[in-house]
Amino acid sequence: MDKEALYTKEIKCPVCGRNFTSTRVRTSSIKVETRDSDFCVHYKGVNPMLYDVYVCPHCGYAALADHFDKIDVEGKKAVLQNMTSSWTSRDYGGERTLEQALECYKLALLCAQLKHDKPSELATLCLRIAWLYRFSNDEQEERRFLQAALDEYIAAYERQTDDNSNEMNLLYIIGELCRRLGNAAQAVQWFSRVVNHKDREDNPLLISMAREGWQSIKEMK
Ligand SMILES: [Zn+2]
Repeated sequence: MDKEALYTKEIKCPVCGRNFTSTRVRTSSIKVETRDSDFCVHYKGVNPMLYDVYVCPHCGYAALADHFDKIDVEGKKAVLQNMTSSWTSRDYGGERTLEQALECYKLALLCAQLKHDKPSELATLCLRIAWLYRFSNDEQEERRFLQAALDEYIAAYERQTDDNSNEMNLLYIIGELCRRLGNAAQAVQWFSRVVNHKDREDNPLLISMAREGWQSIKEMK
């Protein structure tokens, strides 16, 4: 791999207060190859998704880089009690293999559950874990985490009535995950909610993706 693509960033852990370094990918080195219908991106060369989780080597707290500082007093207490108490120091700095990235994402999922993060945030982590298994060609584990992501997205749809800004995205991804998991009847129902959504004029790309998903189900019959 091109070592120039990586750089290290100094991070302060919000749980234990100690500093550590995490490896990041330079934006200029990120090259998108293709995008799957569930938004999974395949990259040429280095995959920046592998480095999107920070793991504190001192206490074991892990989260997506964007959410790393988002933890309250109760969350810290839960991480210290359930994570740090059994944590043996491990450092995920430097180049990461798919396997190491999976460990990082699973730690982040565990911490997100301890923090009682929103279903949509748990869903994002589950979906990314499914993609890492896709990159590893492990179909069985991929499906297991697609199902976990689907369950969380449905919970997000049912509970988060306050945030409708990305409702069409949510409806689409639920339909698409149903389709991938072989539940055609449910997928069609969710896709039709996308196509008939009141904001459909603003989201032509999602509409065409939903139509494509719908069409592929018809062709399978
Ligand atoms: Zn820490």
